[in-house]
Amino acid sequence: MTDRNTPIVIPLIDQRLASLPIPASAFSTAIRLDANDLLVDTRQRPLRDLRISVTDRCNFRCNYCMPKEIFDKDYAYLPHSDLLSFEEITRMAKVFVAHGVQKIRLTGGEPLLRKNIERLIEQLSELRTLDGRPLDLTLTTNGSLLARKAHALKAAGLQRVTVSLDGLDDAVFRSMNDVDFPVSAVLAGIEAAQAAGLGPIKINMVVKRGTNEHEILPMARRFMGSGIVLRFIEYMDVGATNGWRMNEVLPSAEVVKLIHAELPLVQLDPTQPGETAERWGFANAAGQHDPAKGEIGVISSVTQAFCGDCNRARLSTEGKLFLCLFAAQGYDLRSIIRANDSDTDLSAAITHIWQGRTDRYSELRSALAPDAGAGVRRVEMSYIGG
Ligand code: SAM
Ligand code: SF4
Ligand code: SF4
Repeated sequence: MTDRNTPIVIPLIDQRLASLPIPASAFSTAIRLDANDLLVDTRQRPLRDLRISVTDRCNFRCNYCMPKEIFDKDYAYLPHSDLLSFEEITRMAKVFVAHGVQKIRLTGGEPLLRKNIERLIEQLSELRTLDGRPLDLTLTTNGSLLARKAHALKAAGLQRVTVSLDGLDDAVFRSMNDVDFPVSAVLAGIEAAQAAGLGPIKINMVVKRGTNEHEILPMARRFMGSGIVLRFIEYMDVGATNGWRMNEVLPSAEVVKLIHAELPLVQLDPTQPGETAERWGFANAAGQHDPAKGEIGVISSVTQAFCGDCNRARLSTEGKLFLCLFAAQGYDLRSIIRANDSDTDLSAAITHIWQGRTDRYSELRSALAPDAGAGVRRVEMSYIGG
């Protein structure tokens, strides 16, 4: 029997090298659409949200994502020729949009490290959804380069940003990013994003029990009434290198309870289907939501599965399509576009792959032992994007 306290040692196999085969039948399959004419998967989930990782590199070494011991100077990042070019990303995005995608999030690694990212944003901002609207175009960043880039990003057509920030205490923040990066520079980035009109801004705080739970209340106090939506994310068993353990997860229910005890909260309805965060509004003296005080979100990826309406696809830095954040392998779409001038095969491949999608990792994990997710081989979050 495995002792739950004994770390499981998994041989590191580079999951990036493997791809799932796209069967030849993909190119002759009839398309299955729902009542709204949308492409749906085996669980009737439409394809609405595409997250594109534009680099596997990062200037932080957050211990829950890119631990220093693994992502050291010898780590083999993807060579530049393996990355999708901006033209290739835009070409792919266009076909995804034709299949129902309405929202595109650029991520990484640290997306602002990708040179001339503004040019990609300019190209993506030209795309229109099936009903002719501009895309919901956003980007998740660690904020380190935001003060410098906020205006250019806005001018290029970016609508809003999500900034990751795990605490306000400088020592805690420096130790979590593990490169001694000061919190003041990220706060300056957030202010620059606000001034540039990149809102509504969201802030993601990963909560790790024993590391930064004492930062929950200071963060809630700081951003209440600021127009910024602070979201608390349960520390997840993504990738295979962060040494994840269930006892370091602080359930979102506890986060809500802690905040509610000092700053009363009321639960709010979701704004749209497939939303990852559960919404809680700050209440007024009458116990009703006070819009001036704003809201928080909790993302309970570990304690409360939300696969039922998951409409998210992920495109890795080198053009592999992943159907779930916890997938071990993706489908190589880059080879299709590099081999074809026309998008017919790419479109057929996306249709076939999405139609066959069965993924629901979080639901399956909740039926397993608490630490069942530990050490399982999966792609890293820095490669697939959050
Ligand atoms: N570098 C950018 C950043 O940090 O915002 C974008 C990429 S990062 C992989 C995307 C999001 O994933 C961040 O908000 C980060 O906090 C979150 N994340 C990374 N590893 C995580 C983990 N093990 N559990 C929960 N969230 C995680
Ligand atoms: Fe970098 Fe973002 Fe991962 Fe932190 S969470 S190491 S900032 S990619
Ligand atoms: Fe979607 Fe996979 Fe997360 Fe479930 S576990 S919500 S299918 S990404």
